[in-house]
Amino acid sequence: MKIKIPPPVSGGLIISYKCNSGCIHCLYNCGNEWNEWIDVKDAERYLKLLKSTGTFRSLHITGGEPFMNFDLLCEIARICKKTGIPTFVETNCFWAVDDEKTERRLKEIKKSGIESILISCSPFYLEKIPFENFKRCLRISEDVFGKENVMVYTREGCDWIESIGIKGKISFHDFIKKVPHESFIKFLKNYIVPKGKCLYTLENFFYKYPAEKFLKQNCIADFLNPYHIHVDLYGNYITSFCGGISIGKIEEVLRDGIDFDRKIILKMLSRNIGEFLQWAEKLGYKRKDGYINKCHICLDIRRYLVVEKNMEFEELQPAGFYKRLP
Ligand code: SF4
Ligand code: SF4
Repeated sequence: MKIKIPPPVSGGLIISYKCNSGCIHCLYNCGNEWNEWIDVKDAERYLKLLKSTGTFRSLHITGGEPFMNFDLLCEIARICKKTGIPTFVETNCFWAVDDEKTERRLKEIKKSGIESILISCSPFYLEKIPFENFKRCLRISEDVFGKENVMVYTREGCDWIESIGIKGKISFHDFIKKVPHESFIKFLKNYIVPKGKCLYTLENFFYKYPAEKFLKQNCIADFLNPYHIHVDLYGNYITSFCGGISIGKIEEVLRDGIDFDRKIILKMLSRNIGEFLQWAEKLGYKRKDGYINKCHICLDIRRYLVVEKNMEFEELQPAGFYKRLP
């Protein structure tokens, strides 16, 4: 059975999973160990496909950290401009080490076709990136792009760090010792998308429930969500921030939709999590005492299948996502 998807409205192009930061909350499990970057011809093809839908209105170039390959970032920006898709770039600001370099790079990406910028800023980034980099990048971005074209995710996170008086870098461990537990939990609730790596690295900051609470839930709306989709360098079409799940390659998904006959894990998840869990238990998966949400059950099973059972499924991509889970 194939099911058509609504055409995408907005989304990101993951040009690499490589990232200097390797944050503990990363949805896509990015880090420095990844080494591949998107092929320019592939990028051009994916962008043309997105444009051809007639519905796609906003693109962001993301990763990984796009500024780690600055020439490629500029080249992709030029293709976006040619394709006519309004584009912004997302960055963790590791490269914003002095005013002169920051201004030069921002002006160059603007010239290449980038119209706005999203600065990622939260306590999680401070492990590797000094707070001053975010402030510098924010200040100079507002000059280069105009205030209205600069977004910060999240401004509250940035203001919170400022109010605590953090300077330079700080480990996550030291950061949570500095702030009241309740403040951190409040921040986490508003900030985090509880999927991906954080389900392991931050699991003790969440309530957990027996699996039964989630068994009737399904993921069909998540798979069909046309907003904030991602296409990675391998052509995987990813919806709803479901790191490690490809609903298919972009050409196939836009043309035919999701092929549930070939993708049995997607088929089970589209019905209910309970079916996926029971199927996995027959393969030897051991149910945990508590889970944070349906995605926690889903990810823990997927990890079991790929890492412990060494099984391969077309929909569990990219494989590196699983190999690098904590
Ligand atoms: S959250 Fe962003 S900065 Fe952190 S590892 Fe992932 S891609 Fe890199
Ligand atoms: S349960 Fe799995 S497929 Fe469903 S939304 Fe969560 S991560 Fe995505």
